[in-house]
Amino acid sequence: MTTTPTGTPVTAASPGRPIDAAVLRELRAIVGAGHVQHEDGDVAAYARDATPLFSARPGAVVHPGSTEEVAAVLKLASSRSIPVVPRGAGSNLCAATVPLSGGIVLVLTRLDRILEIDTDELLAVCQPGVTSAELAGAAAARGLLYAPDPGSRTVATVGGTIATCAGGLRGLKYGVTRNYVLGLEAVLPTGEVIRTGGRLWKDVAGYDLTRLLTGSEGTLAVITEATLALLPAPESGATGLAYFPTLADAGRAVARIIGSGLVPATLEFLDAKCIEAVEAYARLGLRSEAGALLLFGDDGDPALVGRHLDRMAELCLGEGALEATVAGTAAESEALLAARRCSLPALSRLDSITILEDASVPRPRIAEMVERIDAIAARHDLTIATFGHAGDGNLHPTCVTDAADGDAVGRAHLAFGEIFRAAMELGGTITGEHGVGAAKLPYLTERLGTGQMALLRRLKAAFDPAGILNPGKLGS
Ligand SMILES: Cc1cc2nc3c(=O)[nH]c(=O)nc-3n(C[C@H](O)[C@H](O)[C@H](O)COP(=O)(O)OP(=O)(O)OC[C@H]3O[C@@H](n4cnc5c(N)ncnc54)[C@H](O)[C@@H]3O)c2cc1C
Repeated sequence: MTTTPTGTPVTAASPGRPIDAAVLRELRAIVGAGHVQHEDGDVAAYARDATPLFSARPGAVVHPGSTEEVAAVLKLASSRSIPVVPRGAGSNLCAATVPLSGGIVLVLTRLDRILEIDTDELLAVCQPGVTSAELAGAAAARGLLYAPDPGSRTVATVGGTIATCAGGLRGLKYGVTRNYVLGLEAVLPTGEVIRTGGRLWKDVAGYDLTRLLTGSEGTLAVITEATLALLPAPESGATGLAYFPTLADAGRAVARIIGSGLVPATLEFLDAKCIEAVEAYARLGLRSEAGALLLFGDDGDPALVGRHLDRMAELCLGEGALEATVAGTAAESEALLAARRCSLPALSRLDSITILEDASVPRPRIAEMVERIDAIAARHDLTIATFGHAGDGNLHPTCVTDAADGDAVGRAHLAFGEIFRAAMELGGTITGEHGVGAAKLPYLTERLGTGQMALLRRLKAAFDPAGILNPGKLGS
């Protein structure tokens, strides 16, 4: 089974040819028998990723242990027209690793070595299966910061975060994954190994293939090594929290903070439904009657951080905050951040299925966008709560509903279609950080236009003439 983008389960339109015994023998010869799975019970776990509603069974799951093995698998797959879906931790939220056409799921987690952390050059070289948290931890041990910090960092792999250009809570001040990728080793679907970029901060020789592969969602090449920029670790960090009567008031405060010349390291919001759910779940002592909660924070020199936080609190109060608190200690900061970290688990317990979505609008339109989301949810009789990154306009409308109620699931899909369109009408986009995958592909033409979609297909064909890499996703 797979599902249509409308959330209605249907038999897979293209279940894919089974992997025949001769191909399985060749795969075992390449990676070792212990690293090829093809029994139903073994491959079932790779039919899904973290995206609800999408599933399709692969013919085989292959775990390569070197770039050479990746190249040999891809060469074999290209010669036999077998689809290959690269996969890290499978934590994506857009069905990007669901093997819609069957074939091989190529799991990169055995390539899990940090090869180098260079404190003079401020860079790291690592394999794609290292998790974001492992890399950040290794950098921190040398007094350095690996800035990309998706909420999934303890599981998400470096390869997956590059392939989705993952964001996180620090986007406004530190940017997203693409700002840190200096160079890549990657294997083309034909088996050819390429190196793009390198250790240089400045290098404009040729088209920027590093940037093109970053965010290419496993449709152009398989990343087998990455060279990533690091920063000196900030000396300290602190967080504050403000409650507002309405999200529009919080939106004005965000505009004032940024307009005042401050670039906060944290600027996150929760709407009223999120505040209520988090409080019911974690009993953090949040003010459930508030219309919005804003978390603000900064890092760097401790004296400067203190001044910045006091100023942000002042600006919040000036825009009608009911209350603004600045944490005095690291432990207090962590306690405040818990409100944001709990949002997803708190919402997840409200019903059997949680559809966490991702849209971005220009920062000044956040409050208007949340109003549009609330109106859409009411029209479709759904619970949709919204939290997100106020600093970069990236919202996570999250629908909780009953998975067994096909009608509600269908309404949720319709509602999200309207939400993506509302984001585009407000000058925004259908995904700020989670990616397109299979889930957002139906909306991509509206976002890019037919001319650009055709160009994407031509680019895809140049990298992947046999069309084997992650079919049914970007470039299809
Ligand atoms: C609780 C939770 C919180 C999250 N928070 C955030 C967040 O704050 N910000 C954010 O941006 N995302 C977030 N995500 C989404 C997800 O974690 C990210 O998209 C992450 O980058 C995926 O990494 P992964 O290793 O799981 O990749 P996968 O899910 O395995 O793969 C993602 C895509 O990358 C491709 N891919 C994987 N490895 C390679 C490779 N080596 N070469 C080429 N292509 C490859 C796949 O084909 C697929 O298209 C969250 C998810 C969850 C479940």
